[in-house]
Amino acid sequence: MGDSQYFQAYEDLEIHEIMLRDRPRQEAYCNAITSNAAMFKDKVVLDVGAGTGILSIFCARAGAKTVYAVEASNLAAIAVDVVRENSLTPIIKVIQQRIEDFELPPTIDKVDIIVSEWMGFYLLHEGMLDSVIFARNKFLRPGGRMFPETAAIYVAPCSVPALFDYWDNVDGVKMQSFAQLLRAKRSSKPEILTIGKEDLLHEGIVMSWIDLHEVSPEDLDEISLKEVVPVRRDGSYQGLCIWFDCQFPTHDPDGGIVFSTSPKSPQTHWKQCIVVLPSNACEDVTKGEPIAFGLVMKRNPNDRRKYNIEMSLLDSAEVEHPLPCDCIMTKCILTKA
Ligand code: SAH
Repeated sequence: MGDSQYFQAYEDLEIHEIMLRDRPRQEAYCNAITSNAAMFKDKVVLDVGAGTGILSIFCARAGAKTVYAVEASNLAAIAVDVVRENSLTPIIKVIQQRIEDFELPPTIDKVDIIVSEWMGFYLLHEGMLDSVIFARNKFLRPGGRMFPETAAIYVAPCSVPALFDYWDNVDGVKMQSFAQLLRAKRSSKPEILTIGKEDLLHEGIVMSWIDLHEVSPEDLDEISLKEVVPVRRDGSYQGLCIWFDCQFPTHDPDGGIVFSTSPKSPQTHWKQCIVVLPSNACEDVTKGEPIAFGLVMKRNPNDRRKYNIEMSLLDSAEVEHPLPCDCIMTKCILTKA
């Protein structure tokens, strides 16, 4: 996807509606900023990808002296109106520009805080984090803060009843033969859907932990893991569930605000990303049984905003040694849902 296509997609008001109506998302950013008002008081803030301006407004209300709200798409014009509607024009400067082309005014050397909502499906889809890293390297003063400041990707074996169990009984009719064809048709792509917490066969392991103060774009080119996990309950192993969480800065020694897209947390518009097993690889598993798998997320060489997600079945006795590569069963290129 070229940049102009990407920014054009963000001119769709309904995308912003989905984000603004996503209560867990809104509450996490609003609480994180409001509860850290002391950090924002009289500070200079940069909002990377300001959209409608909502995060800039939270920052201004928390006491920021100046907020640079940088938005590449034509949404910037709407942000100007929203800022005016909230009488914050003297504080929030909306600039329609790619952050990569933006310059601070000569009187401002660096910013104190960067806020951004850059997360995509399975965290990294859209590759917007690269732009946030660019902004951090160029504009954040030493010791400045990132909102959010850490993120983690988790993975766990799971059941996917919506794709499997439903077809056992469609109004009294068994339809697994149809379902199998349907899944095969879709198996080149992970599914973006919601599963229940009861569908997880394990609480999840961290696939990647990202410190927003340190991470580089190259760190995000390929993320992989090989794991054996014990199944926590009897169930059907039908896929891998991928989700993420983000943590915001805090003064609270007991931990701050964590925003999570886990099946255990209230549903968000990111849902979960499910790599579905082909039927012949699915098994009924019992509590305590080991499941071994490999998972690789690799930037698509033709489009840095997308990732190929590849899963492999491993032999649990030898997790260091994947089965031959014809066992790589899911090579998926996600496109924006
Ligand atoms: N901050 C808003 C919008 C988040 S969506 C909110 O939380 O509601 C991400 C926004 O970032 C989109 O509007 C997109 O156009 C913008 N964006 C993405 N990459 C950008 C870049 N490199 N420079 C400027 N804006 C960018």
